[in-house]
Amino acid sequence: MYRVIKSVPKCLFGKGSFNQLGDLLEEKRRNSDSCFVFLVDDYFKDKPIVKRIPLKMADYIIWVNVDSEPKTSVVDSIRDQIKNSSEGLPAAVIGIGGGSVMDYAKAVSVMLTNIGSSSEYQGLNLAKNQGVYHIGIPTLSGTGAEVSMTAVLTGPEKKLGIKGEYTPFDLIVLDPELINDTPKNQRFYTGMDAYIHNVESLNGINKNCISESYAIQSQALCREVFLNNKITREEADEKLMVSSYFGGLSIGHSEVGVCHALSYGLSYVLDFHHGIANCIAFNQLEDIYGEAVSDFHKMVEKHNIDIPHGISKGLTREQFEKMTTIAFGLDHMWRHAFGPDWGKQVSKEKIIDWYKRM
Ligand code: NAD
Ligand code: ZN
Repeated sequence: MYRVIKSVPKCLFGKGSFNQLGDLLEEKRRNSDSCFVFLVDDYFKDKPIVKRIPLKMADYIIWVNVDSEPKTSVVDSIRDQIKNSSEGLPAAVIGIGGGSVMDYAKAVSVMLTNIGSSSEYQGLNLAKNQGVYHIGIPTLSGTGAEVSMTAVLTGPEKKLGIKGEYTPFDLIVLDPELINDTPKNQRFYTGMDAYIHNVESLNGINKNCISESYAIQSQALCREVFLNNKITREEADEKLMVSSYFGGLSIGHSEVGVCHALSYGLSYVLDFHHGIANCIAFNQLEDIYGEAVSDFHKMVEKHNIDIPHGISKGLTREQFEKMTTIAFGLDHMWRHAFGPDWGKQVSKEKIIDWYKRM
């Protein structure tokens, strides 16, 4: 069976494009008296970008803390806060931040028009009603969350996305200036998410001509960003943003694989953010992804990046068991990587072995 893929219908791209946000919102204001809600990473609370957010009349900002990855409980409480405010349902939700805020904005948009807890919607096409108009403005590049059909959430039982046709943004603003001063390690961890998306997308049974085409171009851009000595920071920011975008489109048409399955276990149990969890796992996956992992090692060395090692030392049996159960349960990722009979090649013991290497 072929799958219908929905991506973002409108994309504004270019250095300084964030300055056009006010004009874009003006168009929306003409058709609605409701306010706009900006969900902004609280990292930016005292940063200059706040003054550039085009707030008008009853618009307001909700500061979002992403010390932990997005949780269903936080989505529910932001949704309640918005619904209980005197302004009621907004005309638009605008997310400004990294992949975590992108996912919060997508999930809140959907949950403003669907009843119950967001944990009930973790899965494919479970939302019945179209969400509130939503705009994504990434300040980190690599996750592809700006373009994907998924809002990845950790719920009481699982880490799984709300995925469906109401989830993708209606509009994204990709301004490379917004990622210009990201700290070295964070930029690398998130950037490597794009690199790993491509490696996994290309190595599995779900790949097709579209996913392959996006992945090859995304990979080329990513390699330029992290391996080319001559590239300027300005060029690198632009290319990294496009690499993230294409990488997100690629996995939309294909699937992620072994690294992501293991990484989800690490994030769930040890609270590592996605990018760094991927790097910890990918660092040890030369047996699966070969040369792509050797090149990853070159990038780590070139940029002098800290990748945690020895993280499994001192873990309890329960923690190993939970991590393994989370990873093993991601059937779609294993199936993509090893085919329908993946169970013959991957066992819980094998997963524990991988974790022990980290
Ligand atoms: P993030 O959003 O989790 O942020 C990481 C850290 O960087 C936070 O401390 C944040 O405050 C900070 N930060 C954000 N922008 C910054 C900037 N410009 N300068 C300095 N610091 C900044 O990081 P991420 O790697 O972009 O996103 C990871 C999240 O994305 C995870 O929750 C993961 O599950 C999700 N994800 C989603 C998809 C999807 O398709 N929806 C795909 C991959 C990952
Ligand atoms: Zn990822």
